[in-house]
Amino acid sequence: MIDQSTIDRILAVAQIEEVVADYVSLTKRGANYMGLCPFHSEKTPSFVVSPSKGICKCFGCGKGGNAVNFIMQIEQLSYFEALRFLAKRYNITIEEKKLSAQEIAQRNERESMLAVNEFADQYFQSTLTSHEEGRAVGLSYFVERGFSEVTMKKFHLGFCPSDKKSFHEAALSKGFQKEYLLKTGLCYEKEQTQTLVDNFWGRVIFPIMSVSGQVLGFGARVLDSRTKGVQMKYKNSAESSLFVKRNELYGIYQAKQAIGKEDRVFLVEGYTDVISMHQAGIENVVASSGTSLTTGQISLMRRYTKNVTVLYDGDAAGIKASERGIDLLLQEGMNVQLVVMPNGEDPDSFAKKNNGNEFIDYLRENSVDFLVFKTKTLLAEAESDPVKKSEVVINILNTIAKISDEIKRSVYVKECSVLLGFQEKELRQRLSQIIEENERFRIQQEQAKLRQEEFRRQQNIENVEQQKQEKTEEPTPSESEKSTIQQQAQIQLNNRLFYYECELLKQAMRWGAVEIFGDKENVDKRQNVTVAEWIYAQLNESGLRFQNEIYNTFLAVILEYVSKQENKIPFPSKLETEEEKKSFDEKQVVLERLMNCHSDQAIASLANSLSAEKYSLTKEQRKQYGHDVEHIREKIPRSVNELKKCFLEQQCDEIMEKLSQNLSEAEKSLLMQELQEKRRLLRFFAKCCGDKVINGKYFNL
Ligand code: ZN
Repeated sequence: MIDQSTIDRILAVAQIEEVVADYVSLTKRGANYMGLCPFHSEKTPSFVVSPSKGICKCFGCGKGGNAVNFIMQIEQLSYFEALRFLAKRYNITIEEKKLSAQEIAQRNERESMLAVNEFADQYFQSTLTSHEEGRAVGLSYFVERGFSEVTMKKFHLGFCPSDKKSFHEAALSKGFQKEYLLKTGLCYEKEQTQTLVDNFWGRVIFPIMSVSGQVLGFGARVLDSRTKGVQMKYKNSAESSLFVKRNELYGIYQAKQAIGKEDRVFLVEGYTDVISMHQAGIENVVASSGTSLTTGQISLMRRYTKNVTVLYDGDAAGIKASERGIDLLLQEGMNVQLVVMPNGEDPDSFAKKNNGNEFIDYLRENSVDFLVFKTKTLLAEAESDPVKKSEVVINILNTIAKISDEIKRSVYVKECSVLLGFQEKELRQRLSQIIEENERFRIQQEQAKLRQEEFRRQQNIENVEQQKQEKTEEPTPSESEKSTIQQQAQIQLNNRLFYYECELLKQAMRWGAVEIFGDKENVDKRQNVTVAEWIYAQLNESGLRFQNEIYNTFLAVILEYVSKQENKIPFPSKLETEEEKKSFDEKQVVLERLMNCHSDQAIASLANSLSAEKYSLTKEQRKQYGHDVEHIREKIPRSVNELKKCFLEQQCDEIMEKLSQNLSEAEKSLLMQELQEKRRLLRFFAKCCGDKVINGKYFNL
C-alpha cells in the first residue's frame, strides 16, 4: 500500500493539464484548455481542462475528473495503479505504508511472484535472440510463422531451453527463491529426487499480461517438429493467486487503446491469431486463450467497448462451440457480431495469405449479426422438417423480444422474415404477442407489489385521520388517489432534499473559505464566519445532518481547511477591476482544487461531480449582475432554509408514520406535540423561503 503522505504528494504535484497533454493536444482558451475528447470520437473539441480546479471534463460524453481519475480511465488502471503510474511520471518515490505481518506476507507473495515472472519474461526473450538453441529453434519458428522483430518484442515472445534446468539455474543465481519458482508454475519438482525442472523446457513462450502490462503467466507451445506424440501442444501457467485465467484476456494490454478508439473488440481463439492480426494492423483483438469465455473476461472487454465481433474458424465444431459464448455475451449486454473465417482458415493463417487491408475488408464484408447467424444455423439443422422449423421461429422471436430497442427489433424482424421464409407481418404479430405476454407478466408482478404497499399506506392514513379528528371542507380524495398523491409527494420531497443537499455542498466547496458575514460594512454580530462554518452552524443549530454520510464527511473536510486562519478569505468589499476579480478568483478556487484532488477517492469524485456543472456567470452576465460572490449573502441562506424545510417535511412524514402504529395514548400525544412544533417551524421556514402560507398549509409558488 502507498502511504498517505505519498498519495497527497502525488495529487499535489500532478498537474492536470500536463497529465492530459500526454494524450490530448490542448489549446488554451481563457483560463482553461480545450481539446478533442480522448474517450469518444469527435470533430469539435468538447474536452475542457481546468488547471485551477485540477480537473478535466468532457461535455460530450461526461468523462473526466482529477488527474488520477483521468489516468484510471485512459490507462484502464485501478486507483492505486494510477497513483503509481503518476508517481513514475513525476519521479516521486513511493513510501509504502507500514503493513501488518499478514499483509506483508500477502504482498510479498504477490510481488515475489510478479518479480519472478518479470525475470522469466526477460530471460525467455533474451534466450530467443541470443542463446544458440533459442535462435536455431525458437526464433526460426517465429520467423517461419512470419512474425517481425517488432511484433516479437511487442508481445514479449521468448524461448525456454530444452535442458530443463537453464532457466531455474539462472533464476536461483539471481537470488529468486525456489518457493516462488514453484508457485508461479515456472518450475516443478520431481517427486522422488526433489530436483527442480523447468516447466516450459524446449517451448516457445507467450507471456500473458494484465491490463497494466504485468506478466501474470505464460503460455508455451511445443514446436511443430516435436508435436508427434505430444498430447498438449500448449501448456499454460497453472492457476495461482496471481494468475486467475477466467479474468484475463490474452492481448488486452496491447489492444486496450485500439479497442477504445475503434469502439469494437475482435475476439479470437489463439495467441497466434492475436499476434498475426496485430501485425496486419488490426490491433483491437484479444483471445480467451483456450478456455471458454467467462463473465469475468466479458466484463474486462466491456470496460472498453460494448461491441464485440467473434471470429470463428469455418468448421462446424467451432460454430457449435461459439453458441454458448454468444449467449453469455448477450446476457451481459454486449452487441455481438460474428465473422466466420473461410473454410480451413483461422485468423492467423488468413493473415499470412492476405495483407492487412484485405483482412479488414474481409471482416467488414463478412460481419454478420449474431441473430442472422443463429437463424441460419438453426434453419440448417431443421432442414425441411416443418415442426422443427416452427420451433426455430419461436426460438428466434423469443430472442428478439429480449432486445429493448424497438428500432433494432424491427430491423431484426425484417431480416429474419427473409431468412425464415415467413411473412414479415406474421412475424411482427407473433412478436408483439410475445412482447405483450412478457409485458403483462411484468405488470402483474409489479401490481401485486404495489397493492401490498398501497394496503399498508391506506391503513396508515386511516389511523392518522382518526388521530387528527378534524374535518376539512375540501373534497376528500378517494383512498387510492390519496396514496398516489402521497407517493408522488414522497418522491418530490426526496428529489428536493437531494437537490438542496448538493446545492449546499456545492456552495460550501466553492465559497467555503470566504467570510460570508463579517466585513466592515456588515454590522452583523457573526464576525468573520466563513461560508462553510455558517452552513455547518445553521444545520447544527437545528440538529440536522446530511442524510448521506459522505456529504457530512465532505463538509467536515472543508471545515477543517477553513479552520486555519491563513485559509480564510475576507468578503471582498469591492471587486471592480478585472485584476481584483482575478486575484479573488485565484484565492477562492484553491479549496475547490483541494477537494477535487483529495486523496480520499469518494471525496474527490463527489467534488468532481459537484464541480463539473457549469454554474459560473458568463462575462456578459458578470457585467450585468456583478461578481458571483456578491450574491452569496442572499443565495446561501436561501439554500439553507430550503434544505431545513425539506428536512422538516421529512420529519413530519416520519412522525405521521409513527402515529399510525400501535401506541399508547401518552406516546401519541407526545408525538402530536412534536408534530405541531415541526409544523410551526415549517411554516416559519416556508415564509423565509418565500412560499405563501394559507390556512396553515404552505404552497410553493
Ligand atoms: Zn468525450
